[in-house]
Amino acid sequence: MQEASDETAAIIRTNWTRVQEQVGAACDAAARPAEQVTIVGVSKYVSPPIALLLAQAGCCVLGENRPQAIWDKAEYFRQQGQPAEWHMIGHLQRNKIRRIISDICCVHSLDSLRLAQALSEEAVRVEQCLRCLIEVNVTQDASKTGLPAHELEVVLEQTLRLPGISIQGLMAMSTQQSTSDAARREFASVRDLRDKMQSRYPEIQLSELSMGMSSDFREAIAEGATLVRIGSNLWQGII
Ligand SMILES: *Cc1c(COP(=O)(O)O)cnc(C)c1O
Repeated sequence: MQEASDETAAIIRTNWTRVQEQVGAACDAAARPAEQVTIVGVSKYVSPPIALLLAQAGCCVLGENRPQAIWDKAEYFRQQGQPAEWHMIGHLQRNKIRRIISDICCVHSLDSLRLAQALSEEAVRVEQCLRCLIEVNVTQDASKTGLPAHELEVVLEQTLRLPGISIQGLMAMSTQQSTSDAARREFASVRDLRDKMQSRYPEIQLSELSMGMSSDFREAIAEGATLVRIGSNLWQGII
C-alpha cells in the first residue's frame, strides 16, 4: 500500500478520469445518458488517507462493505473537512446499525425483513431518511448473499411502508468469473424483477439498480444499472 503522496494522488486522479471515461463509453454503447449512472467508488481496499485522495479527485460517492471501515473513514473525512456520501454495500448486522446510521445515506445490501425493521427504527430515532436497495441473489450460488428472488415480494410488501427508510430499487452481483453473456442475463433478470415489482407497487419509485463492478460494469450498464460499484479499477497502481 502506498503513502498518500503527490504521486499517489496523481495516479488516483488518472484512474478516476479513466473510470469515468469507461463508464461514459458504456453509457454511449447502451444509448443511455451518462447522468443516469452514478459511480460508487469502493474504498474497502485502502486506508482513510488514500480514500480521501479519491474524494479529492472528485469521486464523492463512496462504498464500503464493513461498518468498521465506514466509521473509520467517515470520521477521518470529517476531520479533514471532506464531504462524501457513504454507501453500505456489504452484509450488515443489526447490532452495528446504531454506530453507522448517521454516517450512511444509502444501504445497498438490505437482505431481510428484520434488518429493514432495525434500520427503520434507528433511522426514525436519528430523524433521518435512509435510502435502501434490496439485495437479491439471482445466481444459482447458495453461498451468495442476498434474498432469493422468490422472497422479494413478501419482503418488499412488508418493508415499503416502514418509516425512516425509502426502498428505491434492487442490488445484485453476478456469478463470479461468469462470461459476459451470462453476466448480462443475470443483470437482465434483476431488471425484470424490478420491473415486475414496480408494476406491482406503483406507489413507490424503484428507479435504482445497483449492479456491476470493475469486471462487469459494461454488462450492467447495458442492462440498466444506475449505480455501479467500482473498486479495483480505481486503485490500479496503488494496491
Ligand atoms: C468489493 C466490492 C465491489 C467492488 O469490486 P471490484 O471488483 O473491486 O470493483 C462491489 N460491490 C461489493 C458488494 C463489493 O464488496
